[in-house]
Amino acid sequence: MHEQEIEAANELLGHAPPQEVLRWAVKRFHPRLLMATAFGAEGCCIIHMLSEIEKGVKLINLETGYQFPETLALRETLREKYGMTVEYILPETTVSEYEKQHAGPLYEVNPEQCCFDRKVKPLKAAMERIQPLAWISAIRKDQTVNRSTNAGVIQWDAKFGVVKVNPLLNWNKGQVWKHILDHGVPYNEMHERGFPSIGCWPCTRAVRPGEDDRAGRRAGQAKKECGLHVIDEKEGSGI
Ligand code: SF4
Repeated sequence: MHEQEIEAANELLGHAPPQEVLRWAVKRFHPRLLMATAFGAEGCCIIHMLSEIEKGVKLINLETGYQFPETLALRETLREKYGMTVEYILPETTVSEYEKQHAGPLYEVNPEQCCFDRKVKPLKAAMERIQPLAWISAIRKDQTVNRSTNAGVIQWDAKFGVVKVNPLLNWNKGQVWKHILDHGVPYNEMHERGFPSIGCWPCTRAVRPGEDDRAGRRAGQAKKECGLHVIDEKEGSGI
């Protein structure tokens, strides 16, 4: 997709409802349209929208082996309700093999390497295998400063060489939850227990009142944006 086409798409869809953005993406890219989801509230919202547009869109989840049981259960609930199966993308090793290799859990001493081995590397391999032309991200503009300054509804993802579609970019958290409740969309029950953002269990904690939604991710570490989410001019990826 050329720069001019991305610009034109943004002019057309920059303020459009998410469903319209998804309809455009399905028409333009399906069957080479991909969505990677960690089953957050936004991701569930998009899966519901896609189920009414095109159930055949390829959905993947980076199953690091460290996800919460509630997250894994939600995959089944969504499959039963919408008839859309989210494919697990697995790392090269199981958790026990990995921890044996590193004489213990690597997330404690080198979380960057752990994320690389169990998220980034498997995702790259999956992208090479699936060869999408575009992928859908569930990011919202108001989630971080980085996202608000760099993202467009349609953008070029130089890291993976695909178009990135951000249908919920202009929605706020309230709009996401209104959609979920209005349409009875299944969501992770941990959201009701103080977990607004849910990743791997060793790197996620409940947030305290007044804290930022992502404060509970990668708890205790300065870096809150996993490498997959960082958006800059060179690397516009994110799930
Ligand atoms: S989020 Fe934590 S447990 Fe999950 S892959 Fe990254 S470092 Fe490992």
